[in-house]
Amino acid sequence: MDAFTTIIPNFGYVTFYDDQKSDDRIRFTLAHELGHILLNHCIDFEETLYFRSGLSAAQYKVLEREADTFAGAFIRPARLVRLLNSIYQKLHIAEIQAIFNISYSAANACINIVKKLNVLQEKNNINFFFQTQFFDFINASYCINCHYRFTSKSPNYCPICGKHNLLWYNTNLYIYDFIELDYGEIPIMDYKTYPQNIDNGRTETCPRCELENIDSDWNYCPICSLPTQNVCEDCGEKLDPHFRYCPKCGKESLYFKEKALTSWKDEYDTQHSSPTTTEASSWDEDTIPF
Ligand SMILES: [Zn+2]
Ligand SMILES: [Zn+2]
Ligand SMILES: [Zn+2]
Ligand SMILES: [Zn+2]
Repeated sequence: MDAFTTIIPNFGYVTFYDDQKSDDRIRFTLAHELGHILLNHCIDFEETLYFRSGLSAAQYKVLEREADTFAGAFIRPARLVRLLNSIYQKLHIAEIQAIFNISYSAANACINIVKKLNVLQEKNNINFFFQTQFFDFINASYCINCHYRFTSKSPNYCPICGKHNLLWYNTNLYIYDFIELDYGEIPIMDYKTYPQNIDNGRTETCPRCELENIDSDWNYCPICSLPTQNVCEDCGEKLDPHFRYCPKCGKESLYFKEKALTSWKDEYDTQHSSPTTTEASSWDEDTIPF
């Protein structure tokens, strides 16, 4: 037995579990026990409290399957996996294992559920729920080239460097182990951003002349005449003020063409050279051993 849950009067639920098992197994076990609690098994079927003394084997099996089904849906929701499959290439079983930190058999069970989902009626709000609930998780991207991390619905190009080599930002994926090997840690670059009006997305600080508190009604910066909306002139996509490229079509943004933004490499080098400069200037003749 991996675990059991009981009610202690005037206290509440208590779950006992074997903490010597593997991590993925403990996670599943605890989700299973949570299932028993949320599905009211301990209240509706009081007998489960003492090692199912009053339950038939068949009854017990039903409760166990219910708790297992709950745990599966909780830890690796099949709808979420299917969404991921449709956005990224179909996930390999090892990837599902890594992403959700589950065992091979749990990942395999999930794949089988996903296959069955495909034949179910599509017209429901469940997919929408998963899309919304997990938006940041699903749509997190990472650029291997300029190390920018951002959230955007299916981008084709990096909005900072314009390159095509974007990864799903999920550090459980094995590819991040290799990036970590190369850099010591996963490098993240914070490119300078500008405050935007929440209603229309226009910039509130001009990236070219740095004028602040630009009125949301103004179409142009009153100092340097830069339009207050960064845009892709090729496809018409509205862009965040610090985007150098259009994530949809990869063309240069208006702000980048207007030289309101420096190239990503300049900003990258500025951020990365400053510690070295400090180090170099702090040398004085006494510390040089010759
Ligand atoms: Zn159980
Ligand atoms: Zn990039
Ligand atoms: Zn300006
Ligand atoms: Zn575009």
